[in-house]
Amino acid sequence: MTETTSTVSGSASSHAYGELISGLRSAFRSGRTRPYEWRRAQLEGLLRMLDENEDELVRAVQGDLGRPEIEAFSADVGTVRVEIKHTLKHFASWMKPRKVSLPVTTMPGKGRVVPEPLGVALVIAPWNYPIQLLVLPMAAALAAGNCVVAKPSELAPASSAVLAQLIPRYLDDKAVAVVEGGVSDTTALLEQRFDHIFFTGSTRVGQVVMEAAAKHLTPVTLELGGKSPTIVAADADIDVAAHRIVWGKCLNAGQTCIAPDYVLAEASIRDALVDKMIATIGEYYGPDPKKSPSFGRIINRNHVARLQQLLTNHGGTLATGGDVDLDERYVAPTILVDPDPSSQVMQEEIFGPILPVLSVEGIDDAVDFVVERPKPLALYVFSSSRDTVEDVLLRTSSGGACVNHCVMHILPSDLPFGGVGPSGMGAYHGQRGFDTFSHLKSVLYKPQKPDPKILYPPYTSFKQKLVHKVF
Ligand code: NAD
Repeated sequence: MTETTSTVSGSASSHAYGELISGLRSAFRSGRTRPYEWRRAQLEGLLRMLDENEDELVRAVQGDLGRPEIEAFSADVGTVRVEIKHTLKHFASWMKPRKVSLPVTTMPGKGRVVPEPLGVALVIAPWNYPIQLLVLPMAAALAAGNCVVAKPSELAPASSAVLAQLIPRYLDDKAVAVVEGGVSDTTALLEQRFDHIFFTGSTRVGQVVMEAAAKHLTPVTLELGGKSPTIVAADADIDVAAHRIVWGKCLNAGQTCIAPDYVLAEASIRDALVDKMIATIGEYYGPDPKKSPSFGRIINRNHVARLQQLLTNHGGTLATGGDVDLDERYVAPTILVDPDPSSQVMQEEIFGPILPVLSVEGIDDAVDFVVERPKPLALYVFSSSRDTVEDVLLRTSSGGACVNHCVMHILPSDLPFGGVGPSGMGAYHGQRGFDTFSHLKSVLYKPQKPDPKILYPPYTSFKQKLVHKVF
């Protein structure tokens, strides 16, 4: 068996990755990852890693993203801990064969859907929640009994380094490897054959990943991005909507895949909503958000420059914000009113604290606006009317949705999280994550007796009549 290396840092050749994967594949074939006890030990290892290194992990996220402590802890340590504890509590039952009832044609017998591990899974993570988005899919893959290659994002170097250093200390290094690096490393890695690829990142790179996976017919889960709309009906509680939208938008300085990307507000309450959101920004971050310890920073200068570009030629009105400081990687909480729908800020995922607010005449207009565009990762609707909410949910499609709040639907373990169409394919969290990394094998158990001859030739007219009766 080839020895596996538990971490590979940057610039390794395709050959080195080939060796790494073949070592993991041997470990998988040896059966070491299948027992319940092994899986439990890996999940407990991840929990211990989070518990014993909480400060270091939080500091790494803060170093990468300038994120407030409470946001760094809750999103990258706290929620991960909760999800792993949920998995630890339930995965023994998820592992069990699932009974199905049988039609008369296959009786006597037993039908079972048997979850089996896939083999070697590749998990590729983005930089915006650098620990959560690597460790959560890893936990699902390990609970399902797989070997894992974990690739953190090079754009969050502090988090990537701490994960590469800690993971081998807490997990079975024959079965789990961390590969650090950027595009060239990931490209070389993607030349290898995996049994599943779980990618979180942009739609553009999602296409690259799927193309590479197609060469080996490797199944993929793609957790992508997009522009998540937020519809605010005239009958919504405007104060509550403003507080929740500004919170969801400014969390991690807007670098959240399910941040409300833009708002469609009924014209009659548009101004009141904008005024309330401006007041809310002041309430949360004071007169100068740059000085607020509760407001984060943009990941790097390139992304600051990208956001600065979105603030030009949008054709709307700047209602608040607009300050950009490249050196400090700061972009102020910004509200743009009625930008041109064809402007860049309304065409690409914003991924920063800029919130366009567009007026719509009514809910029908809002729905039309949404369905004419690519299916988003999330959709938010604020209204006091159950009928309005259900109507919007019925007539639109999105990866997930949250009513009268933003972002929160990612939290319950039993709500599968994923996109639809260009915002992604497949889902995870809770049992859905376990199933994503499992093959659900259908098994029919038949007793050897009785062995009715009705099935077999010669096909007499009696058998023919009987078959027509049964089917
Ligand atoms: P990205 O697509 O640029 O990078 C993601 C990962 O892919 C990184 O590990 C990176 O090293 C790798 N990568 C980049 N270019 C590559 C290439 N050409 N070939 C192979 N690998 C490559 O995404 P990002 O900028 O890190 O993250 C932001 C995007 O991720 C946003 O679109 C956001 O909406 C999305 N996102 C989605 C979710 C979700 O759960 N659906 C969560 C977070 C972020």
